[in-house]
Amino acid sequence: MTGTERELPVLSLTGTGTRRTRPPRHFADLAPDDRKAAVTELGLPGFRADQIARQYFARLEADPASMTDLSAADREKSAQLFPHLFEPASVVECDGGATRKTLWRAADGALVESVLMGYQDRATVCISSQAGCGMACPFCATGQGGLQRNMSTAEIVEQVRSAAAAARDGALGDGVPARLSNVVFMGMGEPLANYRRVVDAVHRICDAPPAGLGISQRSVTVSSVGLVPAIHRLADEGLQVTLAVSLHTPDDELRDTLVPVNTRWPVREVFEAARHYADVTGRRVSIEYALIRDVNDQPWRAELLAKLASQHLGRLVHVNLIPLNPTPGSKWDASPAPVQAEFVRRVRNGGVACTVRDTRGREIAAACGQLAATGG
Ligand code: SAH
Repeated sequence: MTGTERELPVLSLTGTGTRRTRPPRHFADLAPDDRKAAVTELGLPGFRADQIARQYFARLEADPASMTDLSAADREKSAQLFPHLFEPASVVECDGGATRKTLWRAADGALVESVLMGYQDRATVCISSQAGCGMACPFCATGQGGLQRNMSTAEIVEQVRSAAAAARDGALGDGVPARLSNVVFMGMGEPLANYRRVVDAVHRICDAPPAGLGISQRSVTVSSVGLVPAIHRLADEGLQVTLAVSLHTPDDELRDTLVPVNTRWPVREVFEAARHYADVTGRRVSIEYALIRDVNDQPWRAELLAKLASQHLGRLVHVNLIPLNPTPGSKWDASPAPVQAEFVRRVRNGGVACTVRDTRGREIAAACGQLAATGG
């Protein structure tokens, strides 16, 4: 359960051509304790580490040329700490600008997407932890192309920093808070298959400035297909992030096909790991359930879901239904409204909190399960 050896086998569930390009080291990869050494290595005085951290994490400035409290010579030297990671290849918007999807092209050509969403009371960014995904869930567009590679910590943090800068600069329009408040690891990839980099990124995202961006841990959600050993390990990190588990059905027979990793870690083990997470953190676990017409939307499944959820998690659980979003080539679609309403009713009747996600960005292929980094 410790060490990285657990992460590797699940990475190659699909695809054999995993590229192992490693993005160059970036300031956002560095833990606070390593920053001083990194700047002194470049011949800068140690105190510059703190100034650069303030620029990056508090002022959201990622271009050393604009860090005007550094001398010109030191700005030039510190450029080595800010190698080119990726550039926005496209930005598409909908909901009158309140939903913005960015396609990032990394230095090695890897493509990932992130989605910034503005609401009356919050601004949320949905970020990617891997280019592609190896989990092969058949209803998810990301899963169809297999895994390209893990995102580095800095590539993950950069998605958040640039979203925070965009929100601050008014990109989401009027009536949306200018401060990025929430981060969800619900973009491309399986965050717990890129465990160490994701946990390090959570620290950069949540540590108080200038150590990090200062977003509350409770406002960060890590979503997983249910990599059981990694969930246990996350429980013991001492974090307060929300865990979401993509369950999609309460029975192993169907789940083996909807979430193929279920053949390794079945429903019961997923619930036990979620229980461990809830016990250690006191946090309510979110169960994600994409409702697919005539596939997983039967009343008996709602009842079994409620039974298992309350058995294992008591009140520390919340079921989040996601009306299935269309993906290219998929025959499946969302359940009709009355079926969905009945499903909600039965889960609630079973004593489990249940809501339907207000899914955003469907028309720009930015909604749950639609991120394929094809520029659409
Ligand atoms: N790999 C992680 C993170 C992705 S989160 C995980 O699976 O949890 C994206 C969420 O959207 C997951 O719950 C995923 O199962 C769900 N999803 C995937 N395809 C979908 C689709 N077509 N419609 C609705 N939700 C979908």
